[in-house]
Amino acid sequence: MSTLVRIAPSPTGFLHVGNVRTALMNWLFTRQQGGKFMLRLDDTDMERSTQAFAEAIERDLKWLGLGWDMFAKQSERFERYKEVLEQFKAAGRAYPCFENQEELALKRKSQLSRGLPPIYNRDALKLTPEDIAAKIAAGQKPHWRFKLNDTPVVWDDLVQGHKSFPGGALSDPVLVREDGVPLYTFCSVVDDADMNVTHVVRGEDHVANTAVQIQIWEGLNDLYGGKPVPTFAHLPLITLASGEELSKRLGSMSVASLRDEMGVEPLAIASLLAKTGTSDAIEAASSMDDLIKTFDFKKIGRSPPKFDTKDLMRINAKIIHSMSYAQAKPRLDAMGLNAVDEAFWNAVHQNMAQFNEIKNWWQITHEKLAPVISDAEFIKQAAASLPAGPWDHTTWSTWTGALTAATGRKGKELFMPLRLALTAQEHGPEMKAMLPLIGEARTKARLAGQTA
Ligand code: GLU
Repeated sequence: MSTLVRIAPSPTGFLHVGNVRTALMNWLFTRQQGGKFMLRLDDTDMERSTQAFAEAIERDLKWLGLGWDMFAKQSERFERYKEVLEQFKAAGRAYPCFENQEELALKRKSQLSRGLPPIYNRDALKLTPEDIAAKIAAGQKPHWRFKLNDTPVVWDDLVQGHKSFPGGALSDPVLVREDGVPLYTFCSVVDDADMNVTHVVRGEDHVANTAVQIQIWEGLNDLYGGKPVPTFAHLPLITLASGEELSKRLGSMSVASLRDEMGVEPLAIASLLAKTGTSDAIEAASSMDDLIKTFDFKKIGRSPPKFDTKDLMRINAKIIHSMSYAQAKPRLDAMGLNAVDEAFWNAVHQNMAQFNEIKNWWQITHEKLAPVISDAEFIKQAAASLPAGPWDHTTWSTWTGALTAATGRKGKELFMPLRLALTAQEHGPEMKAMLPLIGEARTKARLAGQTA
């Protein structure tokens, strides 16, 4: 069977670095295998899921370059979950329970106080058909649990190695709530089986779910015949290098904020997330293909990877430094900077840490600016020593050479007052490249202290 992986984000919030990492690992793996990638919105919780979040997830994945081959929405499959529930009921695998949350909480408390694991004690299995009929007649609505087998559950995890859960250590999972809403644990397996998912790659917070879901999968196999249980890979959960909990910084670690507020390139995010927590070096990838080629589950370590925004910005700058004009052009056009030509791009991009900075350099060289005159005497002398044309990349060295000869100034003492007068900035691209961009007229006016 050819490889098919899926990600199943809930449209109850924005994609953040944690779920992007999961998406990326799935995508890299399946692209390497020549397989398919499915986006399946886990939107059965109709109260918390929104269309706006669903659209944001799709937009963010596309922007990251993580395109999908197949798309599904769990909210469109309620009939199917209902059908499977009926089949599980008929097969004696699903049973009705009537405990409410308080009763369940009390049970757990009493089990814990007796040193027992807080798993569902299957009291509902003791109900007779008459008990059940009476409860329903009295207006009580059942929720439905799946009866697990007591056999141990084992699998070979691509990241975590051999995993084993003793039978009887797990609670019978609730498949469908009393209001008829099917739950994640259940829908996810029905979908994975129906859609022939071959590998489930997700966070290690799902390890216990996997043990239960393997049994549900086997329950489906008892109904429909054998489909191989998918191969699992559970990724250690990402943490923030700052030591803060990711859950507290979800907003600022969303793809939207990295893109819109921090000006991060999609390839920078992919480069960092593909490599943190692996045995490979963390560096800027030249393309997604690069990351596909080097992907290997064996390289993923067991300890939680640390997401460091300093690394992200370092990689981001590298990506911009090696970006060609052809790559930049469509984005420049989209920003309204159609006039930026190859010479301008080449003059400034090595100095940018974020793509948006191009706008500042365009404004500094092409729009009115109040010069900073830090040393009036020297600037006056500099204005008088400007070489006669042509105005090109040699102008700066001719000019500053003459100034050194006349004043003895060198280094910072020489160029900083000029840089401030001409750009009002202490840092920036080489002045040799800036001077032709600023142009002769503007240079003269700025040296004369005029806003020009
Ligand atoms: N909605 C679940 C999550 O985002 C899906 C987990 C899974 O991949 O099965 O954690």
